[in-house]
This record gives sequence, C-alpha cells and structure tokens, in this order.
Amino acid sequence: MTFDSRVPAYEAVGEVTVEKKQEGKPHAGKVLAAVQAHADDIPFFCAGLVAKLIDEGYTAYLIQTTNDEKCGPTPSIGDTIRRNEEEIDVLAKELGFKQVIHLSYRNHFLDEASPIELRARLVYLIRALKIDTITTFSPWGHWEENPDHYITGQAVEAARWMAGMSKDYPEHMACGLQPHGVKDLYYWTMRPGQPYNTAVDIEPYLEEKIASMSANKSQGPAGSHGRRLRERLAREGKRLPELGEDDETADRQYIRLFGLAEYEQLGAPYNLQYAEYFYYMPPGGTFTGSMSRADIDAYVAQHAVDL
Ligand SMILES: [Zn+2]
Repeated sequence: MTFDSRVPAYEAVGEVTVEKKQEGKPHAGKVLAAVQAHADDIPFFCAGLVAKLIDEGYTAYLIQTTNDEKCGPTPSIGDTIRRNEEEIDVLAKELGFKQVIHLSYRNHFLDEASPIELRARLVYLIRALKIDTITTFSPWGHWEENPDHYITGQAVEAARWMAGMSKDYPEHMACGLQPHGVKDLYYWTMRPGQPYNTAVDIEPYLEEKIASMSANKSQGPAGSHGRRLRERLAREGKRLPELGEDDETADRQYIRLFGLAEYEQLGAPYNLQYAEYFYYMPPGGTFTGSMSRADIDAYVAQHAVDL
C-alpha cells in the first residue's frame, strides 16, 4: 500500500503513550472543546478521540472558526455555507457534542481576522463553558499550508492560558465569569512530519468516526463517494456487494473499505487495529526554571535556623 505524502512519516517525540478505552466515566464533570476550522477537520483528525472522551464522561462543545464558504459542490457561496452548517450539525450529533458554536470567519482567509478578537472570543468561551481540555491543530506543526489551520491553533494556544489570568479581560469577571485555564490539550498530527507523543486506540469508536466522516458530504472525507461509485457501477451493469442497498450505507461502507488505510498504518507500530496520533500537552508543564514546591519546602525545613 502506498501513501502520497510529501515527507515520509510522522515524528514520534519521546516515549509514546498508547491510550485505550477506559471503563466507566473517569472524566465525568469535565468539559472538552474540539476547535476546527472546517467541517472535515474533526472527522479526519480527532473523531475517534472525541467519541472516546465523550464516552468516558466529558461534556463536549464543537467550536468552528471559519464559515466553509469555499468548499462545497455547488457554485453558490451562500448554499455552500448552509450545507456545511447542516453537515456539521450531523457530525456533532453522531459524535455526541452538546452544542456547535460557529465563529464564522471567512474560509481560507482567517489570516485577515484580528488575532486579538479571535483570542478574546476563545478566552470568553473557555471561561463561560469552563473548558478543561481542548483538541485542535498543532499551532507550530511543519508542512501546514492552510492559514485557517495554524491561525486557529495559535489562537487556542494563547487563549488556553490567558483565560486563567485574572487581569485579562476584567469585564468578564465584572459580568460574573471566573478565570479558568485549560488544563490539557491534544494537538492534531495531521501532516506527515508533525510531532506526536500519543497514539489513541480508536477501534472501539470506529463506527462513530465513520459516521462523522460520512456526515461530511460537501468536502474532505467526501461522504458521498460510496453512493457515486454505486451509481457508476449500476450504469455499467455492475454492483459491489459491500456497498449495500442504499446511499448512506454505500457512503459508510466506502469509508470503511477505502478511507481508513492511514489510520491502520498509524496503529500498526503500537499493535492497534486503528489509531489517531496526537501531541498531548499535559496539565502544568510550563517551564519555570525552579525547583518543585516540595523540594523548596524540604530545603527550608533542613536549613532554616532559629532567629
Ligand atoms: Zn481544514
């Protein structure tokens, strides 16, 4: 099997953690946000992770930065925006998101938006929704060619810690919000060459991932390939039995047969059937140059003398 990649592989950084399905609801009470620029980003890069975290107890919000006005099958820009919005609602329902929030900046032109405004809107959402965990684009990943992607990632990266500061946007606190920093992040590994330190086992959530990819009929995973192949074969007097008897079954089966090859390749080194890769940023971890609080306390206990 061959892959059309400009560089040969994703880049493991340090020891790679394999995350598997956890029983029960270990994340009950926690809030997740998946921040995408386009309707096809979450289905491609984190649908398995999102289904897993929701199953494990997270309440999840989908935040979309652009309006997808450039990506759809019809010439009408207005119709393209509407179709993508409707398909994002389907994707959100399939994965179990509680709500979709559209920031509606122009597709492919996010670099014309004010970075300060984008950051402020994300800070507000982090505080208002009390978001604990975010999954989004790697803000500094190499080989990225779409400005919507890296600008979204960079805005999230700044907003996630600024939301925890008490002097940024004091009007929020005057209106009853509290500072609330995001604790951890799963950055997407979406271009070969980008770093990862976590492989998530998505096999238990494969149906949800396929459904989210199929929801996206206008672009990306192209959830309408199956029905188009079925129609073409019918014109030639043939059929592929695996594509089933109706359009939606054909679309999902097409993804199952042909659209998961790279996730299989990602899983193989970790003995997983299917995987998504992430660069996971754990809670804390900010460089301080300092000893730990416990070590400082131990030093003071050992060396302090009476007055
Ligand atoms: Zn995208």
